[in-house]
Amino acid sequence: MHHHHDAPAVVRALSPDEPVILNRPHAAARAARFFVERFPGKTLYAVKANPSPQLLKVLWDEGVTHFDVASIAEVRLVRAALPEAVLCFMHPVKTARAIREAYFEHGVRTFSLDTHEELAKIVAATDNAADLRLCVRLRVSSEYAELSLASKFGCDLAEAGELLQASRQVADWLGVCFHVGSQAMSPFAYVQALDRVRAAIAQASVVIDMVDVGGGFPSVYPGMEPPPLEDYFAIIHRHFDALPIAYNAELWCEPGRALCAEYNSLIVKVEKRRGNELYINDGAYGALYDAAHVGWRFPVRSLNGDRQGEAMEFAFYGPTCDDADFMEGPFDLPADIAAGDYVEIGMLGAYGAAMRTAFNGFGSGEAVEVSDEPMACLYDGSRRREALDNVVSLR
Ligand SMILES: *Cc1c(COP(=O)(O)O)cnc(C)c1O
Repeated sequence: MHHHHDAPAVVRALSPDEPVILNRPHAAARAARFFVERFPGKTLYAVKANPSPQLLKVLWDEGVTHFDVASIAEVRLVRAALPEAVLCFMHPVKTARAIREAYFEHGVRTFSLDTHEELAKIVAATDNAADLRLCVRLRVSSEYAELSLASKFGCDLAEAGELLQASRQVADWLGVCFHVGSQAMSPFAYVQALDRVRAAIAQASVVIDMVDVGGGFPSVYPGMEPPPLEDYFAIIHRHFDALPIAYNAELWCEPGRALCAEYNSLIVKVEKRRGNELYINDGAYGALYDAAHVGWRFPVRSLNGDRQGEAMEFAFYGPTCDDADFMEGPFDLPADIAAGDYVEIGMLGAYGAAMRTAFNGFGSGEAVEVSDEPMACLYDGSRRREALDNVVSLR
């Protein structure tokens, strides 16, 4: 992989006609170190956020040893990249064949479930294994998150007691997990969810060996400035400690976005301008899925140093032939930006670089490594003061 200092250097060297993904391994390493050192438990990386093997190795090198995988393809991918990693199959709906291959060929022991049917399937597919580590997924509210994960998975509190009891009968080790939704903008999301965990455990009266608070840890985007992660960790720790669980019970988390958002940015070329709309060469079927489909805003900057115009709000059209390939933004760029210019779009490491397709013949383009700072950062110490204000207001 080629190395350059930053996006302007890439443009000078390549004048790329295709979009270019920029990798920042130092930023992912910093995020991993932060979780490994400060989260008061074990950190699993949720692979779906960005399954790049290079990224997996960066995280492993910084001490992330456990990986949350959701499909047999992810199991194989992580196993190939990291032979010694601990893989946890955390999709509550799996095929029997996927469970069997994961257990017998890839050493997977940890599986999540949210129904009695899935429990029976796991037991049968592993030939009644005696060393299963099972996590019962609870449905919790997504009200503090920008992207909901509340309606699809998780058993209701009313059923949780029985499912925990049935799982305890066959599990060597039993956990409870949940997901508060992605980009949770307040640590209070986890307080609500852990209260529900407490209620489920009280109903079941079984020994719980692990509580997994899932993902949802935020990153920084225009218009979305979360409190510092230390606040999330402190509140989670406090509420975990108060649960009626085994004295040696473990606390886990499964961040996807927070570990990889800063890992990638993207260089795009402006192919055409129509008023305040820029036609660029990546879009809804590329790395900008969230910008198109949920109106997510990403930071942008002009890579043409001679553009001196005042900032103006633009919308983007992507390269495919349909109207859905549209990103409303607004994206602030110099008013004199023109066709032929290059733009860097930041914070695309999570659910950005991973979403690219080859639809309509677009989606190729290379990746290069850069060493400058990401366009926003949760880990550079700049968010400490706000931290104190938020902690005070939450108590
Ligand atoms: C997607 C997902 C994650 C990661 O979520 P983020 O919001 O990216 O942190 C973690 N756990 C499970 C089960 C998921 O489906």
